[in-house]
Amino acid sequence: MKAVRLAAYDTKPELVEVPDPKIESPLDVIVRVGGAGVCRTDLHIIEGQWEAKSGVALPYTIGHENAGWVQEVGSAVTGLRVGDPVILHPLVTCGLCRACRSGDDVHCDTSRFPGIDADGGYAEYLRTNARAVVGLDPTLAPADVAALADAGLTAYHAVAKAARHLRPGDTAVLIGAGGLGHIGIQVFAALSAARMIVVDRSSDALALAADLGAHHTVLADGDEAAAVRDLTAGNGAEAVIDFVGEGGALEAGVAMLRRAGSYYVVGYGGALTVPTIDIISAEINFVGNLVGSYTDLVELMVLAAQDRVRLHTAKYPMHEFATALDDLAAGRVRGRAVLVP
Ligand SMILES: [Zn+2]
Ligand SMILES: [Zn+2]
Repeated sequence: MKAVRLAAYDTKPELVEVPDPKIESPLDVIVRVGGAGVCRTDLHIIEGQWEAKSGVALPYTIGHENAGWVQEVGSAVTGLRVGDPVILHPLVTCGLCRACRSGDDVHCDTSRFPGIDADGGYAEYLRTNARAVVGLDPTLAPADVAALADAGLTAYHAVAKAARHLRPGDTAVLIGAGGLGHIGIQVFAALSAARMIVVDRSSDALALAADLGAHHTVLADGDEAAAVRDLTAGNGAEAVIDFVGEGGALEAGVAMLRRAGSYYVVGYGGALTVPTIDIISAEINFVGNLVGSYTDLVELMVLAAQDRVRLHTAKYPMHEFATALDDLAAGRVRGRAVLVP
């Protein structure tokens, strides 16, 4: 089959011919790739930023946001048929460790992450296991939803976590209406009866946020914390969900919290410094968020099938992978780029 392989860091990946993946264990599933999301993480992998963390042996096939059709199943796989449209949870998990048994797939003791530390989906076929496979509603095309497997799942996980604690009459602030944030806004509108305030530096992004269901939008111009306080009778918000996590968003975001409020960190890159006396005296919480579970992905696909979460995609045939990566690096992609084998 054809696959886009990285042979050395800081060099361009190449489209090459490699052997098709084979079933190696009874729960393995081979998927014919219908779409592979092109993600900023792929750029970081090529630059070598993940070299120490992943320890992957080069050359290997990148692509960690994958959807397609079942091609072949191992002898122990039930409930999947050849040709079924599917999206793949990004991790291949064991199902036996304590985290897996409590449904917390992301913290599996022995997971693999195709596209990060094993062969991924910039290819015609991909090997995963049955635990990662989520069946798609027949109205959903794999290439249209592939990028929800990572960015969308991360946004869903954080918003659903916050929504479980929010009551009608509460307020949540969502910081950042970009790639993750615009999915988070749609998920929030679907899951919560709380009021939603969206903060972003771009007035175009805020216009999109209002279209997607934000009740109020606030331009991040330095006075955004005061604006949120004005909108909440001086109290602040019960939840702040931060899709940015750097560049001043953190300081402003923490200043938007109500007493006993919770700050959900999704975007990353910055550092958070908060006096401990402020944490105890206002009893505020800080909550990390990493990708999402299998059931998070199942629930997100329900919203996608109901057309309540929509992702704008720019599709590229697989042989134009270099253009897709260049366009992403240059900020020329609207929504998410997807490679189609
Ligand atoms: Zn990604
Ligand atoms: Zn496990």
